[in-house]
Amino acid sequence: MRRSYIDDYKQKGLRKQLVDGIRAKGITDENVLNAIGNIPRHFFLDNAFEGIAYEDRAFPIGEGQTISQPYTVAYQTQLLEVKPMEKILEIGTGSAYQACVLAELKANVFTIERQRKLFEHNKQFSFLSKYRTIRFFYGDGYEGLPTYAPFDKVLVTAAAPSIPTKLLQQLKIGGKMVIPVGEKDVQRMLRITKVGETEYNTETFDDFSFVPMLSGKNG
Ligand code: SAH
Repeated sequence: MRRSYIDDYKQKGLRKQLVDGIRAKGITDENVLNAIGNIPRHFFLDNAFEGIAYEDRAFPIGEGQTISQPYTVAYQTQLLEVKPMEKILEIGTGSAYQACVLAELKANVFTIERQRKLFEHNKQFSFLSKYRTIRFFYGDGYEGLPTYAPFDKVLVTAAAPSIPTKLLQQLKIGGKMVIPVGEKDVQRMLRITKVGETEYNTETFDDFSFVPMLSGKNG
């Protein structure tokens, strides 16, 4: 993959337009909008996408996976209600863009990817050294990270056929999980709050379309 790491007035201008567009679509959390405005999204994509990196669309990142649409990233992040210093578990590192948004909000991020090539790629991605609060793991997100649990928040960025029990267990009481749940083509965004050891409140939001959350590691 060839990438350009120049962030000039042209990209900054396009990024501002992207943020305005996301705000117009209903995202109100200014901290989330600032985070999107601060991160050069074209750094996360192949040069071939340079002219369109700031369109509000998902793009391929290799291994049949995608970087999520910025609106979707903003939507999930807003629902997560991130506070500084929180421990957040992300399932599906992909391009690491979403992890950087969480890091911009001063969270401590633990992110898991099951595709070895994507995981290895992020090790070489020098821009990520800017974010010292992100830890990268290669593994199966269905297992979570029991060693580092419990987490304040869990963010799943792939489509889950049902709610993964182990991830619920790894939430703190009072913690929240944001997860798209459903079949192949369309999933409902859920926010689950852990109110007791085995007690949960579920809120439902809009429909989205994510790549599937698959079991096991690949590679
Ligand atoms: N958060 C990403 C979105 C990537 S798409 C970004 O900002 O770019 C979803 C990602 O979830 C893909 O990279 C896919 O390989 C990964 N994934 C799917 N099932 C998984 C699982 N069980 N554990 C960890 N990662 C998984």
